[in-house]
Amino acid sequence: MSEEYVKKAAELLKMGATLLSDTCPMCNVPLIRFRGDVFCPKCGRKIILVRGESEAAAARTPIALADVEENLIAKILDVNVRLASMDDLDDIKKAGEVMNILLKTLSLVRKLRTG
Ligand SMILES: [Zn+2]
Repeated sequence: MSEEYVKKAAELLKMGATLLSDTCPMCNVPLIRFRGDVFCPKCGRKIILVRGESEAAAARTPIALADVEENLIAKILDVNVRLASMDDLDDIKKAGEVMNILLKTLSLVRKLRTG
């Protein structure tokens, strides 16, 4: 009970929030309903409670895409750092190809996220 999110959750509960039996699909932490919104006290994500598995999958998609975008950006920065110290043209070509794929994928993910 020493983690930061537990304190946050306790504060919200004092302010009238409700602890739900549903858990965050990412952190498996009990969700909190506060002022009409349901969210995870650990990752701070707003959660849309759903019924069937297909609805659940649809609700998970934006969360998954946000994670994919985050990872892609990290990889792009990583390739960029490596590229800066490359001299060999074959290596640079390879890095360029990887960068191209990462940027195209990032663009696609952003399009999917914004609908
Ligand atoms: Zn969470």
